Amino acid sequence: MNITSKAHNKSRFLLGMFLLSLYISAELSLAELSVWSAVWAQQPSPSSLSSQSAAVPNSNLSLSFDEKRAFKILSELVQRGQRYYGAPMRNEVIQGLAKQLQDLGAEISLQAFEKVEPKSQLKYTLTNIVARFNPQAKQRVILGSHWDTRLWAEEDHNPNLKSKPITGANDGSSGVAVLLELARQLDKLKLKDLGVDIVLFDGEEFGRPGSDDYCAGSRYFAQNLSTYYPSVKPKAVIVIDMVGDKDLAFPPEQSSVKFARPLTTLIWREAIKLKLPAFQRGLERGSPHAKSLWIVDDHSPFQKLGIPAVLVIDLNYPHWHTHQDTMDKISPQSLKQTGLALLASLKTLNTIP
Ligand SMILES: [Zn+2]
Repeated sequence: MNITSKAHNKSRFLLGMFLLSLYISAELSLAELSVWSAVWAQQPSPSSLSSQSAAVPNSNLSLSFDEKRAFKILSELVQRGQRYYGAPMRNEVIQGLAKQLQDLGAEISLQAFEKVEPKSQLKYTLTNIVARFNPQAKQRVILGSHWDTRLWAEEDHNPNLKSKPITGANDGSSGVAVLLELARQLDKLKLKDLGVDIVLFDGEEFGRPGSDDYCAGSRYFAQNLSTYYPSVKPKAVIVIDMVGDKDLAFPPEQSSVKFARPLTTLIWREAIKLKLPAFQRGLERGSPHAKSLWIVDDHSPFQKLGIPAVLVIDLNYPHWHTHQDTMDKISPQSLKQTGLALLASLKTLNTIP
């Protein structure tokens, strides 16, 4: 993803974080935070919830999410190799992800398109993987995450490694693992008239720092929305990215608050009802974990179309775009928190016309 305050410049990044934390403090004092606060008041003190090693409670028995299986999916994905554009293993990975989703009952299509890399002028084929559950339903929700990993490591402290592709255990793999395990749990929600489209976007990492080439897959998908939504636009889009960090906290992302306030509120409220610490920590006033940013990611192209689109992300991750973004930084409990929040949100979205 890219941060509109040009976060790749470290000092501006920190300044941006500070200013935006002030901004979100103001934003969150508005009406819907009173809803959060009311729910919040019934919860244990946030300070007692800061440990991420504690097991996530399953307070809603109708929701389940197997974090061990999600972790295994993630581990296998990482073992298959890096997934930057032009990487040799890409086709095999695409087929593998599509097969897993198909085996869970989804109608699969691969949306391939060509994209020229501006600097090298080389042309690459990028592929979005689209898995539709309950394809007949007119009302639909998109759950998205990017499956590609980054070709560079521009944030790495070692200058010799900056031009080398990263593993991307958190950035490019954690979201995919959550969605694959979530797909296994969808049946239990009995959504009836609500269809769910899991879209694994390619090319999120296509951009170089400061460029506008990020999110190539989701932009293409949004530009061609009528391919999958000929008459009715999706009612909601929820994108997850970098959701596996052991030290997890989700401050509400700023563009989501601005353009999709009710949907953002719904997701955080459901998560807080489930006592999920990452979402609670993201709302802790004055905490460094609750510093929010305005982030360009795969939700952004949908916001431009006027579709409520929310990004769930923890960008407070020191290994972002470095060679330290590896499996040892990932917690199964973090994957579980994200998965449960999405499942609970789907359940509630199903009740809203
Ligand atoms: Zn990234």
